[in-house]
Amino acid sequence: MLKSLEIPDPFQTFVAKKYANAKGAVYDFFSGEWSYTCMSCNEDLFGPSRKILTKIRLYHSRNECLGGY
Ligand SMILES: [Zn+2]
Repeated sequence: MLKSLEIPDPFQTFVAKKYANAKGAVYDFFSGEWSYTCMSCNEDLFGPSRKILTKIRLYHSRNECLGGY
């Protein structure tokens, strides 16, 4: 597992691309979870994968932030 300690540039590029595609979602390597800070209410949302986090984010913005809007 020595490789994980030396992070090569292609890996950083990969993470940067992933980050760009996630639209504000950030992967936490230490907890292994994706997190997203809601821009409307500043609440932190967490998900085990980006796909699930996106669902949580959409649900949050529709029902908790912009509910009825
Ligand atoms: Zn919110």
